[in-house]
Amino acid sequence: MTNYFAMNREDLEEEYQSLKRIYKGYCDKGLKLDMSRGKPSPEQLDLSMDMLSIRDYIGETGIDSRNYGNLEGMPEARTFFAQILGAKPEEVIVGGNSSLNMMYYLVELGWRSGFADSPRPWSAGKPKFLCPAPGYDRHFRVTEYFGFDLVTVPMLPTGPDMDQVEKLVQDEEVKGIWCVPLYSNPDGYSYSDETVRRLAAMKTAAPDFKIFWDNAYCVHHLTDTPDHVLNILDECRKVGCEDRPLMFCSLSKVTFPGASVAAMAASLKNVEYILKNMFSMIISYDKFNQLRHVKFLKDANGVAAHMDKHRQIVEPKFKTVLSIFDKELGDYEKLAHWTKPNGGYFISLYTQGVAKRTVQLCKEAGVVLTGAGAAYPYGIDPDDTNIRIAPTYPPLEELETATHLLCVAVKLATVEKLLA
Ligand code: PMP
Repeated sequence: MTNYFAMNREDLEEEYQSLKRIYKGYCDKGLKLDMSRGKPSPEQLDLSMDMLSIRDYIGETGIDSRNYGNLEGMPEARTFFAQILGAKPEEVIVGGNSSLNMMYYLVELGWRSGFADSPRPWSAGKPKFLCPAPGYDRHFRVTEYFGFDLVTVPMLPTGPDMDQVEKLVQDEEVKGIWCVPLYSNPDGYSYSDETVRRLAAMKTAAPDFKIFWDNAYCVHHLTDTPDHVLNILDECRKVGCEDRPLMFCSLSKVTFPGASVAAMAASLKNVEYILKNMFSMIISYDKFNQLRHVKFLKDANGVAAHMDKHRQIVEPKFKTVLSIFDKELGDYEKLAHWTKPNGGYFISLYTQGVAKRTVQLCKEAGVVLTGAGAAYPYGIDPDDTNIRIAPTYPPLEELETATHLLCVAVKLATVEKLLA
């Protein structure tokens, strides 16, 4: 095993020169690749094109989906998402084209008015929000935008560090937590049963504490032995706090990101309160699109069959990145480690404090990665370790080149730092 951290200066200098030559070779290729966001590839988008020929607009209860009405969503779409989210149809609201938009709306509702169980609006004090990190940058951005204090909680392979969460929720100003329970963004970790049960059972000082349970990757498996996460609404109900979780999902990475259907599920009390407030914002969501999606995907089995087709395209890309990491970084002691998710859209690569420099080196060679630090509150990774890899979009060959370059960049950045 090579260990840069135990090398003498002379050997390091030699390694530096050799890495620089290899890196320059990549720069000379004139690469122009973008791996910055988790987007499906055009091939994946092609899988859903047949949906657009569905023109039926009358729902199974006779609703004309082309017209206004039914803010809660088409009944068959509520039943469909009830299966996906693990709730009853009446606990589901089917929304528009973005689950993030629904989350934003509910953060805003809490901020401006509070929820049905709130003594006062969240904005009345100095509210804080728990952010398991690394996590999804756009979650953190929503709560930052409203003015919450973002409180970092370390993300472990079992989910957020629950010892810390249980302590932090003793503060009444802590109003909620962001969670991506299955195949988290960016680590691909899934919450253990113990984590889910502790989130449900913990005593919170705020009576209106909310768990934002973003199940964005609930059908995005990449193996025959998928991870399984307990249902937070069920677990909360068992311990008498069913108003705590707000569950979300969308079909963004099932059909078309930005042109699919999002949904949420919560207790009946929450659903009633949310619909009453939504009434001031919108008459009805795009029910035509909701119906089209249900007719195309049918039910949970239909979704699973469709996601298998995605898997055939996505799995080789994950395998490619992981095998290049193994080959090129695996023999270096302490240099880097990375996650090996069973699903989702991302792999996390952890460096020894050179994430920023590595991303910069890749950029200068023509490969754009997610900005270092993006997965942390306020965009600051305190140890500058984490790089989020999004393997789905580039064609396989380009992904290979980009991953090779990334490995060279990690080594070069590390050696450079040791020589500085
Ligand atoms: N949640 C997570 C965890 C995500 O990774 C993404 C997409 N990158 C979203 C939500 C966005 O979903 P939507 O398109 O439904 O707004």
